[in-house]
Amino acid sequence: MHLESKRTLVVGAAKSGIAAAKFLRSRGAWVTITDRRRVDELTEAAALGIALEAGGHRAETFLEQDVIVVSPGVPWSMPELVAAREKGINVIGEAELASRFLQGKIVGITGSNGKTTTTALTGAVLKAAGFRVQVGGNIGTPLVSLVETSTPETINVVELSSFQLESIRELHPNVAVVLNVTPDHLDRHGDFAAYTAAKARIFENQTPEDIVVLNAEDAACRAYAHAAPSRVMMFSRLHEVAAGAFLQDADIVFCPGEYSYTVMEAEEIKLKGAHNVENVLASVCAALCLGAEATRVRQGVRDFKAVEHRLEFVIKLGEVEFYNDSKATNVDAAIKALEAFDPPGKLLVILGGKDKDSDYTPLKQLLKQRARAVFLIGAAIEKIAEHLGDVVPIVRSGTLDIAVRDAVRRSRPGDTVLLAPACASFDQFENFEHRGRVFKQIVRSLGTV
Ligand code: ADP
Repeated sequence: MHLESKRTLVVGAAKSGIAAAKFLRSRGAWVTITDRRRVDELTEAAALGIALEAGGHRAETFLEQDVIVVSPGVPWSMPELVAAREKGINVIGEAELASRFLQGKIVGITGSNGKTTTTALTGAVLKAAGFRVQVGGNIGTPLVSLVETSTPETINVVELSSFQLESIRELHPNVAVVLNVTPDHLDRHGDFAAYTAAKARIFENQTPEDIVVLNAEDAACRAYAHAAPSRVMMFSRLHEVAAGAFLQDADIVFCPGEYSYTVMEAEEIKLKGAHNVENVLASVCAALCLGAEATRVRQGVRDFKAVEHRLEFVIKLGEVEFYNDSKATNVDAAIKALEAFDPPGKLLVILGGKDKDSDYTPLKQLLKQRARAVFLIGAAIEKIAEHLGDVVPIVRSGTLDIAVRDAVRRSRPGDTVLLAPACASFDQFENFEHRGRVFKQIVRSLGTV
């Protein structure tokens, strides 16, 4: 792809868009950025000294380009983009742009849940195995920012969201991982079939030399196994698989095809919860397929601690442990968090925030078994209280600060205080990261008094 003197437009001036614009400029292209937001909200983009069309889009600008690079937050079906594609203009996503220039191999990781954890874990495991590794994509560092530092020996471990996959054309992971496909983002993809199809694009450009790693316990993944043009490896927490990684009698076993061997014991995994065993199986499978040594893979997994805000262990105060799962922004993720703590009745759970039209009744059974009490915060207090009924003692704490103190007051030795809100954070916090950081600050400050 030649960018020298090409007219290019970047749509969306957030992190990926800004990285794309800088990259295009560094390759000698003429660059314009456009964003719906007003210019005073786009200080970083304005500071680049690149032509900026803010406060909306000019349809003509889209039609004057050679290449249009779309940020993941921008709908692929936007009328201006449709018109540009109809005119034959090369419209691609930021990840696709990056993939045309990225050197080395790509491990692409997608799924409805667990992408960030598995991407970070796979990066750590491959690093432990001695490879030159870069981690990026949806996890935080835009893929295009990794181009300049990539070499032919680099393994680029990339988190790919369904939005990013929607806008690829040739992107081609050497190893593609699909963790699971459960209904999510249907507001943007239309229906489950369209969402499943978007995720399937991760392997559409693969060849028989490439590998796709799929969850044997997930119906959509099983269907992908028949459609993938690449070599299929499966992972399963429940059954042996013909080729791939699985859990057998508490051992993580890898089977490249003809034979199988134990890589490590599941007990060595520091991450909590059965869902994280699945993430480990996927990572181990991908790393071993890339030629990593099993003993180093084992070490990499053993050393890996939770990604911040994902069932992250914070501190033990006296005999009480504190976990931050602020990323559990929906009921499903909160269920996974509750399931990760086995002993019955020892959880003090902080729930609430901004409701996303959720049904909280699926939490009832688990809370009844595992929680000593629930502490509610934020705008969703009354709705959650109503949905939970009287299965568990409920305390209407209101704010996170009070909830932590209420929970500590009720705790007994051996208990765990868990922040797994099952709600968005925007009523009281900037985002889930902010909520998680505040929780950790409050908890740590208890330890210093
Ligand atoms: P993503 O990047 O896909 O949102 P994360 O690793 O950030 O995934 O985890 C998000 C939430 O999903 C976590 O709070 C966790 O409870 C849950 N989760 C993590 N891995 C899995 C998995 N393999 N299956 C189901 N849920 C998971």
